Amino acid sequence: MQNAIHTDRARGIHSISPADDPWDPISSLRQFGRHRLTSVEMTLTNLCNMRCEHCAVGDTLVMTEPDKLPLDMMLQRLDEIEHLQTISITGGEPTFSGKAVNEYLIPLLKYARSRGVRSQINSNITLDYSRYEAIAPYLDVMHISFNYTHADDFHKVGFAKSGHPVARETAVRMYERMISNARRLTEGGLFVSAESMINFRTHEKIAEIHQLISQMGCQRHEVHPMYPSAFAADLPVINKEEMRKAILRLLDHRDPSLWMLFGTLPFFHCSEDAEDRELLARLAAEPLVTVRNDPDGRNRLNVNLFTGDVFVTDFSDVPAFGNIGTDRLDELFERWLTHPLAAGVNCHCPAASCCGPNLLVKDMYYREVDFLARKAIL
Ligand code: SF4
Repeated sequence: MQNAIHTDRARGIHSISPADDPWDPISSLRQFGRHRLTSVEMTLTNLCNMRCEHCAVGDTLVMTEPDKLPLDMMLQRLDEIEHLQTISITGGEPTFSGKAVNEYLIPLLKYARSRGVRSQINSNITLDYSRYEAIAPYLDVMHISFNYTHADDFHKVGFAKSGHPVARETAVRMYERMISNARRLTEGGLFVSAESMINFRTHEKIAEIHQLISQMGCQRHEVHPMYPSAFAADLPVINKEEMRKAILRLLDHRDPSLWMLFGTLPFFHCSEDAEDRELLARLAAEPLVTVRNDPDGRNRLNVNLFTGDVFVTDFSDVPAFGNIGTDRLDELFERWLTHPLAAGVNCHCPAASCCGPNLLVKDMYYREVDFLARKAIL
């Protein structure tokens, strides 16, 4: 089957590279001169076999769940989007239910493939390999979380909110399966992007985590600071200085042949702090390193596939502002752009390839800052 995946990938037109990251809203901003809806994230399930301490949607995870909206309704809403370029499918664990994989996930991926739209799923890849093997021929990016240096980290972090003890042996088995699945999928030609958070647990050992990701054969290491959502609000927060140091450590010890993508950073070219600007300059100068502008609310909306509610992100505190039962997604996106929250971060400095801060970053570090009055200092 690995050869079959290879063949499919080789045939595909969907190569993702540092020069072509269709999730970055700066591409559509340059193309259209304004933000357009080019990306839709769909929450496919609230079921998951893990209960991670940092989970952005942890307080919505359940043991059983209702029926989803008819697939045709979602496909029709996707079809109406004039400039759709990417879809992302998230959860919970999107592959948790075999039925949902066959009846929903794969048809969505096939739709994307037929339209030349790139696709991503966010998975913990701890289930049986056959589940991922079935999806791989239709998928562009398998996005996983990897924040560990050994199985004990995984045990501690991955089941922190499970409400009952999970045996170490169970966690070790899942950890080993995750690593073996990542290796097999990448060997089969699937693009696997492993994301690590910079947080109180990882900031001092982020270079070690990076080495393991490189050894798993992942084609990309994605790095984001952790911003505690409601579910993870009790976790300690590291300061910007610690975060800067962690990024520098990572750059000093990285595998130079592995693409690194940084996102949702709290550093901007308009900062009065020279160290912030120096760090961004170093990131820009590093080969195979990219800094992605945040898609949430810039070129992307999130749809809950149980209710049809539409949000700006899958975990934001911003309430739903529409529903696919009654509204077209392009129209909802235009409505969102007039929202004061969207308008407040709608800055753009072309020379810095920056289109403003993520909403959580603004809220956490820059509440009083008027980004519309700032300019990149280059
Ligand atoms: S686009 Fe906004 S956040 Fe980015 S450098 Fe310019 S003013 Fe700062």
